[in-house]
Amino acid sequence: MPSTEPDPSTIVFFDNRYVPLAQAQVGVLTHALNYGTGVFEGIRGYWDAEVQEILLARPADHYMRWKRNAGILHLEIPPSPDELIEITAELLRRNAFHSDIYVRPLVWKSAQRIGVHADARDSFTIVAVPFGVYMDSDKGLHAGITSWRRLEDNAIPGRAKICGAYVNSALATDDVRRCGFDEAIFLSENGHVAEGATCNIFMVRNGRLITPGPADNILEGITRACIIELARDVLHLEVVERSIDRSELYVCDEVFFTGTAVELAPVTMVDHRRVGAGVIGPIASELRRLYTDATRGRLPQFENWIRRVSVPVSIHA
Ligand code: PMP
Repeated sequence: MPSTEPDPSTIVFFDNRYVPLAQAQVGVLTHALNYGTGVFEGIRGYWDAEVQEILLARPADHYMRWKRNAGILHLEIPPSPDELIEITAELLRRNAFHSDIYVRPLVWKSAQRIGVHADARDSFTIVAVPFGVYMDSDKGLHAGITSWRRLEDNAIPGRAKICGAYVNSALATDDVRRCGFDEAIFLSENGHVAEGATCNIFMVRNGRLITPGPADNILEGITRACIIELARDVLHLEVVERSIDRSELYVCDEVFFTGTAVELAPVTMVDHRRVGAGVIGPIASELRRLYTDATRGRLPQFENWIRRVSVPVSIHA
């Protein structure tokens, strides 16, 4: 997992300008810092050295989701998704990134005063940083059910990537890591499986791919949508969105997580019980290969998922 802090000279978009990361600062009374009133996104870009391009994975979908979900908190992001993609491309060029990268857009309530009632002062930033493997899952992960419950839509909408909502994910991750697991699985208050701390969850049972639906307090993941499309259109699998019981994870054939950062991460143990044969299953393996090929521009039928940004390596570099 990347733990290093980005270079402070990295150029970021902040306050409608391109400035070094070191200058992108907010005051301690900022509403979002005190009350969690921000909405963020996460977008990956994959470096293709052969053509000297970074391939942004579904940036229009990410920016559309960001703008729509920001509306839940009455946060305004004035630029259109296309304009936001252009700002992102400019960041990649200005920083001359020649590696895989991660983009973090963030919009927040920016008034600096005491009081939880939010006003119309909003700010947004877009930061791009070099980024590699987030979660090493090549041998399969051991996931544990956390005793923290997934937050409910009527408390804090989990679909919205609201900053304050990630306390829920941080508590769950801390809980299961202290118990020796790699990653958390959340149950909702009603006891059904919801998702991982920062990723969606799928299981394979009797040849069908099954994942909880939006009403199970999940974040409606864009990687999840990619995996459903690949499973249906390429592998011709039946995909079912329905609630999953905790104990179904103990008796199913395969489990895996999906997300922008984790990509597709197979789970081979849940709560000290082997999933299937206790090794990475064939459907997870195949979907992982397809997802990698599609996002790295090697599957022409999924070229519409990616936006290519040319970042030539300077001959003086
Ligand atoms: N659930 C949660 C709680 C997340 O934070 C994420 C990461 N954005 C996901 C699921 C996966 O969503 P996506 O595939 O759009 O990255």
